[in-house]
Order: sequence, then structure tokens, then C-alpha cells
Amino acid sequence: MKSILEETKYIIKKYGITANKNLGQNFLIDDENVNKIIESASITKEDLIIEIGPGLGTLTKELVERAGKVIAIELDDRMIKILKDRFYLYSNFELLHQDILKVNLTEIIQKNKENEQIKSVKIVANLPYYITTPILMKILEAKLDINSITVMVQKEVADRITAIPGQKKAGAITYSVYYYAIPTQITFVSKDCFLPSPDVDSEVIQLTIRKKSIVKVKNEELFFKIIKASFMQRRKTLLNGLMNSEIIKTKEEGEEILKKLGISNNIRGESLTIEQFAEIANLINNV
Ligand code: SAM
Repeated sequence: MKSILEETKYIIKKYGITANKNLGQNFLIDDENVNKIIESASITKEDLIIEIGPGLGTLTKELVERAGKVIAIELDDRMIKILKDRFYLYSNFELLHQDILKVNLTEIIQKNKENEQIKSVKIVANLPYYITTPILMKILEAKLDINSITVMVQKEVADRITAIPGQKKAGAITYSVYYYAIPTQITFVSKDCFLPSPDVDSEVIQLTIRKKSIVKVKNEELFFKIIKASFMQRRKTLLNGLMNSEIIKTKEEGEEILKKLGISNNIRGESLTIEQFAEIANLINNV
């Protein structure tokens, strides 16, 4: 059997493809890492898999063999032609020529769940890195009826997403993801595993969607606004961050809230736990 590198080179030559950097096109060419992604997603015939950015179809080829159904969403016309040819014979394959950020995923999932064979929905992708955060936040915020998201992302983004809230590597995205899902690191992937090779290393991560929310938040919009404000100016205290973004009107108002929670006035947002952010948001919401 041909290796993924040989297969990729053959397809690229046959269709005269040059990778489009603006679309984040770095094709995975490493057999071992493709296997790791597929295995960690634990795919069964009862799964609908939504693949974002299938590209030349390297992951797609494994997905269509294992899943009940695969819906692949790709923006680049040239990839659409290749994918149509490559998976023509698969009745469980559907291709959407669309921008992932504009697709109505809720509708797609609802429609496909009417099919009795489909019991769960999983997202699998080697993501286009230029829109990693918008894609993940769109999926999470929409509260889709899905079980997990298994994706390749840039190593630094993986480190942030899988950091422990309240500890050093955490950022606003750590809390946002943690609110909706349990993140785990699956495997490190060197830049040499892609064609063309990107400037950065990567990592596969898995987000298991929480069935029950980890904290009770009365006003989600306010909760996320407070987290964003705290990390916008990391070096400032939480109170200054909240004042600057006009979430609280006076310092005294903030001090009162921190006192109720037994938190020091000098605390920086970055050292708060998600539970503390939730308590602060709920108290500000009541004011
Ligand atoms: N899955 C392939 C692989 O692993 O080799 C390709 C991954 S490549 C990192 C990202 C893919 O996302 C490319 O095929 C690119 O054309 C596609 N893409 C970029 N922007 C997109 C968007 N807004 N919507 C859907 N697909 C997009």
C-alpha cells in the first residue's frame, strides 16, 4: 500500500495543485499521526462525522471507511473537484462547498439526527490555523448536539486551550473552552509531518463536550466579557480590567464584590478559577 506522502504527491501532481497559504493549506503526510487522530476519535458506524477542511481527503479516506456518515465542509474549489472524484463511490459521503464560519451546523446536525442510524456526532479536522479560534468558538457557543471535537491545531494554541484555568499558561480561551468541554492533549505533531511544512509545530487535541455545565452562570455574555477584560490587560489587576472595560462603574463596587467572595483587591484575573469568575459575574449581574 502507498504511504500518505506518496498518495499526496500523486494527487498534487495529477491535479496541478499548489498549496494556498491564505487558506491555511498544510497537508498532513504522516501515516502515524493520521492513525492517531482517527483512533482517538473512536469512530463507529453510528457516528456522523463532520470534517472541517478535508483538503485532498487524507483524513476523509479513513473517516468514510469507519463512520455511518461523513459531511465534509471545504471552501477551495480545487479541493472540491478532487474530493468529488475521490469519494464518488461512497454513499455515506456528503460534501459541502462552503465556508465553515457561514454554515448552519445546528440545522445540519438536526437533519442528520433524524436518520435512525446516527446516534452521535463528532467533529474531526486538521484545522485551517488562520481561523482556529473562530471555528472552535462558533462550534462551542452554538451548543451543538455533539460528543467531541478532535482537531489538529498550532502547538501554542493547544497549550493555551489545554492549560489549567488559574495557572500560568491559561488565557481567555482556556476558560471559554473549559466552560463547554473537557480538553485533552492527544499527540504532538512536528512541522515536518506536513506538506508544505508550516513555520510552527502542531498538536492534536480533543474536546469532550460537557453534558452538564461546570459552573452556574446567570448571564453568559457578561461572564465571557469579564474573562476577556481580565486577559486583555494581563498585567493589570482584575479591578482595573473591569473598570477599563466599563463592566463596573466604580472601584468600590468591585471591592465590595471581591470582599463578599474573600478575594484580595490586588488579584489579577489570570489567577482566578472558573468558579471565581462565575461568582464574580453572578454578583455583578445582580447589581
Ligand atoms: N484535511 C487536510 C489534511 O489534513 O491534509 C487539509 C487540512 S489544511 C490544514 C486546512 C483545509 O481547510 C484546507 O483544505 C483549506 O482549503 C480548508 N479551509 C480553509 N478555510 C476554510 C473555510 N473557511 N471553510 C472551510 N474550509 C476551509
